[in-house]
Amino acid sequence: MNDIMKLFSLEGKTAIVTGANTGLGQGISIALAGAGAKVFGVARRSCTETLEKIKQIGGSFTEIIADLSDVSAIDTILNEVSKTASRVDILVNNAGIIKRCRAENVTYEDWDMVTDINTRMVFFLSQAVAKQWITDEKGGKIINIASMLGYQGGVYVPAYTASKSAVIGITKALANEWAHYNINVNGIAPGYFATNNTAQLRDDAERSEDILSRIPAGRWGTPEDVYGAAIFLASDASAYMHGFTIAVDGGWLAR
Ligand code: NAD
Repeated sequence: MNDIMKLFSLEGKTAIVTGANTGLGQGISIALAGAGAKVFGVARRSCTETLEKIKQIGGSFTEIIADLSDVSAIDTILNEVSKTASRVDILVNNAGIIKRCRAENVTYEDWDMVTDINTRMVFFLSQAVAKQWITDEKGGKIINIASMLGYQGGVYVPAYTASKSAVIGITKALANEWAHYNINVNGIAPGYFATNNTAQLRDDAERSEDILSRIPAGRWGTPEDVYGAAIFLASDASAYMHGFTIAVDGGWLAR
């Protein structure tokens, strides 16, 4: 491998990916493992399919079952990783939920459920990992998964929009504080991807057609479409990038 290709290699690195059993988290786990990282995937349910796909490419994957709506999951995750890895190098805060509901009907419970997982956990898991990095002075990479709704208002998803706008803000705030520790905090804002997250949207023929007609690429994204951005932000290739959220959106924001 020449020196330029080495910039993108994750050989010898350990990564945590939250929400690794399906969709984008599964895709990001495959990408990082394919680039050489030892991946620990966190999910509420078993990650059997992710494990199988990573096995097929000769990568390393270990699942950690944890409920990210509860901050006690942070200790569980870090303890599990420390059993077989000397340190964490990469954290991908991917897990997230969406609840579709008119603004006038949103309950306190639904608001908290969405923002606890999408925002609160993103911050506190990042804090826990960064504390280790600040102590060992070896730096690290945090990749936060935001959304188009970090930039736009959306329809019938106010808690989600608030939570993803916060993810873009947290990404900038943490970069300001931690860049000088050699910690890169950046984000990916996916456009419209064909995963569970958008199942309801895609089932609504009118909304689905509306969305598709606005995407310059002319199709919904697939988990493979985030491989490149994930590897870039997890690798030495992005060493001087701090606090930025990259849109991987088929051109949606360019419209
Ligand atoms: P998905 O529903 O398939 O994935 C969500 C993941 O989060 C799952 O792996 C799930 O297990 C995990 N998760 C949810 N609640 C959890 C909890 N309490 N504890 C542990 N894990 C939990 O959908 P996806 O599209 O792959 O979503 C991944 C991320 O991408 C989310 O943050 C989502 O908001 C974001 N995103 C998706 C799209 C899209 O179009 N699909 C667009 C923008 C952003």
